Amino acid sequence: MQQLGTDLARAASVLRSGGLVGMPTETVYGLAANALDEVAVARIFAAKNRPHFDPLIVHLADWNDVDRVAAQVPAEARVLWSALGPAALTYVVPKRPEVPDLVTAGLDHVAVRIPQLDLARQLIASAGVPVAAPSANPFGFVSPTTAQHVADQLAGKVDYILDGGPCAVGLESTIVSWADGGAAVVLRLGGVPLERLRELLGYEPEVRRSSSRPVAPGMLDAHYAPGKPVRLVPHGFDWSSVEPEAGNQYLAWQPGTHGLASLTTNGSGSEGAQRLFAALRDFAASSDRELWMELAPEEGLGRAVNDRLRRAAHRGED
Ligand code: AMP
Ligand code: MG
Repeated sequence: MQQLGTDLARAASVLRSGGLVGMPTETVYGLAANALDEVAVARIFAAKNRPHFDPLIVHLADWNDVDRVAAQVPAEARVLWSALGPAALTYVVPKRPEVPDLVTAGLDHVAVRIPQLDLARQLIASAGVPVAAPSANPFGFVSPTTAQHVADQLAGKVDYILDGGPCAVGLESTIVSWADGGAAVVLRLGGVPLERLRELLGYEPEVRRSSSRPVAPGMLDAHYAPGKPVRLVPHGFDWSSVEPEAGNQYLAWQPGTHGLASLTTNGSGSEGAQRLFAALRDFAASSDRELWMELAPEEGLGRAVNDRLRRAAHRGED
């Protein structure tokens, strides 16, 4: 039977029966399973080859369901929800005991998100269970932004891929945590810009960068890796100082830069975000040896684009 399609009822039934679904969202495609079924969740980790220290986001159809997984919801989380509604924002809040330790990597907090994409919320509502889903890619690799990307990387490991078209945001959610009991902390930059959070919270939350034992996988230094060298140049770089070499790829931020290809057509952070992972994937599939890429302006979604680019370019200790 066809593994990729638009059959919502089938996708929901796979989730209910403990299977894995490639789930479209506005951020990236997720590898989804019933979050309350520990065996199903274990299959996510196996399919992705994901280390168990790396917890999963639980996706809900509606904010009214938040009490199914959260023991308590901080006032600031409610403020953000009221202003943003379903969005590329993940809330890390105290968990209920029903949420398996495997989902939260033994932490007493759970990450919750209500996706903006209607089809994602319809799928979760129709399955009738909270849905755990990390990005649908082998651990450490570039995240999928189309159903075909999921099929390319996880064929045979996923029971059904629900095709919801290309992801509109194109990179993962912003993760905000209240786990410290005090002010909000950003664990991962993503689809909701830091500036927007500052506006709504009345202060700029601290952004916690990578650590060797991450509470969020996006915090690992080396992640989103295309498997070949990526060399970053600053935003506004003088490309005329580089003599292009055959066999390398050069990607400027905006068009009209010394006749080079560019990531965006209009220079906006949101367009750069939307196109980023597909560009890294195209480079990985090409015969080019090295990708030179210009960073985004360090503002709005450009910050999250730069965060992913730095991790994609990170070469590790060796
Ligand atoms: P992924 O969808 O693979 O990009 O990863 C999901 C993100 O949510 C990761 O960065 C997780 O570590 C993060 N996350 C999930 N649960 C928690 C939690 N309980 N505390 C902190 N971060 C979490
Ligand atoms: Mg991921």
